[in-house]
Amino acid sequence: MRGPKVIVVGGGTMGSATAWALAARGAEVTVLERFSHVHEYGSHSGYTRIIRESYHEGAGYVPLVRRADALWRALGEKAGETLLVRTGMVEFGPEDDPDYQGAIAACVSAGVEHELMDAAAARRRFPIAVPAGWTACFTPSGGYLRVGPCLEALKREAMSLGAAWRTGARVREVALGERPRVLLDDGALLPADQVVVTAGAYLPGLLPGFMPGKLKVLRRVLAWTRPDPAEIDRLAAMPVWASFGPAGFVYGFPYGHEGVTGFKLACHVPPPEVGAAEAGVDPERVDRAIHPADLAPLAAFLAEYLPAGRGEFVHATVCLYTCTPSTDFVIDHVPGDRRAWVAGGFSGHGFKFAPAIGELVADAVLTGAAPEALRAFARARHAG
Ligand SMILES: Cc1cc2nc3c(=O)[nH]c(=O)nc-3n(C[C@H](O)[C@H](O)[C@H](O)COP(=O)(O)OP(=O)(O)OC[C@H]3O[C@@H](n4cnc5c(N)ncnc54)[C@H](O)[C@@H]3O)c2cc1C
Repeated sequence: MRGPKVIVVGGGTMGSATAWALAARGAEVTVLERFSHVHEYGSHSGYTRIIRESYHEGAGYVPLVRRADALWRALGEKAGETLLVRTGMVEFGPEDDPDYQGAIAACVSAGVEHELMDAAAARRRFPIAVPAGWTACFTPSGGYLRVGPCLEALKREAMSLGAAWRTGARVREVALGERPRVLLDDGALLPADQVVVTAGAYLPGLLPGFMPGKLKVLRRVLAWTRPDPAEIDRLAAMPVWASFGPAGFVYGFPYGHEGVTGFKLACHVPPPEVGAAEAGVDPERVDRAIHPADLAPLAAFLAEYLPAGRGEFVHATVCLYTCTPSTDFVIDHVPGDRRAWVAGGFSGHGFKFAPAIGELVADAVLTGAAPEALRAFARARHAG
């Protein structure tokens, strides 16, 4: 006999992982996804995501990274496919940058293997023009996840455990009366015992009362250059990388062929003067065109810090962050109703955690109580 009937609203990153974990625990799962499985209109576009233990956002995230890392590897083994590519990660920045210091502090306090080097040593080892006086920190456990294969593996596993998946099914409303029900755009009303909302950037529109005024959706641009062919071998041998400093938090991947052939980079957090003026966007109306002003800061970054990566931009795409004020996630039940749970506000750093979040959310849904590891993401933590 199957367990409770659970509807997952949003079959993207966290919805796929939660459906997999719920199905593994015996729930009767239906996933409703408004677009296709893996698409460009949410927060998982762009083919690759960094996984790292040097967690400047807080050492408290490191156990969750480790759990997710193990789960991604197990899923990859089962799928017979590489989901996680272990390249190592190099971060560099000025000694007095608090986030860079936070990354090093997380390594120290959580026992993450890391290697600190001065600018000259970093320049010898990587094709990065680390400025004199800065340092670099290399963590061998860093790498990247292959988005499409990761999400396909989660979906395949979930379906093999009995989950049903509907794409092109947009949820208009989640109604929590005597029995939770989900209203679709076509007028169908689907009953369930429990509902999980993992709607990403569309969460504030779907459940405006969950975190009123607290979730900000931001537009981000990912771009790929075509570097000088003479530089390609060096760029392909790079670890994933990130820079802290006056250009903000800029990061990238080795030269490769994941989705697009090229050298991929993006800005995660712009410099404070730019970030302070940044307005939230409506995901239904966001400007998806790429403008010269989107690419100019990335070109300037390459010219200054990574000249080997310079070249014509061959591709760029828009992706959406859903940010909480602290950038910590928000995972909790709907106020006053433990039959409906929400996992959102992944603030541009959630992908790596997906299977670990999925199993925690599944436990919360099926027991009615958030496991200890989710307490840090309670709605109340974002009050004030
Ligand atoms: C440019 C960029 C770079 C990033 N880099 C990294 C990185 O290097 N490392 C990392 O760990 N994280 C990274 N992230 C963050 C990570 O990708 C996100 O935190 C994660 O994908 C969020 O997952 P989600 O399930 O909340 O959103 P999504 O994956 O977007 O899933 C939400 C799903 O809900 C669906 N949906 C919404 N509303 C409805 C509705 N009404 N009915 C039905 N379906 C609905 C959407 O179509 C979507 O498929 C990055 C994000 C971006 C944008």
